[in-house]
Amino acid sequence: MTSPRIPLAGVLGHPVGHSLSPRLHGHWLARYRLPGHYLPLEVAPEDLAAVLAALPRMGFAGCNVTIPHKQAALALAAGASPRALRIGAANTLTFLPGGGFAADNTDGEGFLASLAAGAPGFRPEGATALVLGAGGAARAVLDALLGAGVARLLLANRTPARAEALRAEFGPAVTAIPWQEAGAALAGADLVVNTTSLGMTGQPPLPLPLDALHAGQVVTDLVYAPLETPLLAGARAAGATAVDGLGMLLHQAAPGFERWFGRRPEVDAALRAAVLA
Ligand code: NAP
Repeated sequence: MTSPRIPLAGVLGHPVGHSLSPRLHGHWLARYRLPGHYLPLEVAPEDLAAVLAALPRMGFAGCNVTIPHKQAALALAAGASPRALRIGAANTLTFLPGGGFAADNTDGEGFLASLAAGAPGFRPEGATALVLGAGGAARAVLDALLGAGVARLLLANRTPARAEALRAEFGPAVTAIPWQEAGAALAGADLVVNTTSLGMTGQPPLPLPLDALHAGQVVTDLVYAPLETPLLAGARAAGATAVDGLGMLLHQAAPGFERWFGRRPEVDAALRAAVLA
């Protein structure tokens, strides 16, 4: 007689040592007393396909993928969600009974859930958003905000061609503006989102004058180390609502946990404390 397999999941990255995902899934497994393990898995790009083929044979129900595997995993998937295809990257993979895996991208869902929790009065429908940055994370944010009904989305990036490319792809609600004009555009935005890596520990702050920020606005940063970036500190000082980047990280993990371990987990203060410990 064989005993039932304990579900396994993990995060594949290169490097993967910095990932907070093992800590947050581990917290949920312990909290709900579920059998299962979630592991950090260091995987070089040239090994990704072989590892993804082997994991289900070892009892893995699914996995997260992070830098540099997000695009490659999408290309290897047997099927992909419409949002993963629109974003052009996957972060949540679920192995299929017949072989192969389904790819999804939960970053945009996590972003909106974090915004709803941190700024419950904010309604995206009809709002004007200013998005700083046009990298991978910006794609998920644009997809989520436009899907949620944002009427006008101003996009500023250091390299203008990348903002222009996203404008062409995401449609007429998006206007690419020069990086140097982002500071002046702050005043007219209901929502400001930093998707660049500026403000992160070891990086300079965003080179914007923040004095145009004001009460009634919502300002959120995808950077979560430190939790209080210079942008968020400026927003709070101006009386705006500041939403940190940790919420997105926690909320994007919930759909994968539910698929692999069978229970929708809660994002709450205890989870934040466990991840920050
Ligand atoms: P990415 O694809 O490498 O994009 C980086 C972005 O930052 C680009 O827009 C880049 O502009 C800009 N940038 C970098 N250095 C800059 C500088 N010195 N001056 C001006 N702009 C600069 O990275 P990503 O995957 O989008 O991630 C971006 C940030 O979001 C990272 O800090 C990441 O940790 C964070 N993130 C957080 C979450 C979360 O759950 N909270 C999820 C995903 C990502 P150019 O195009 O000009 O290079």
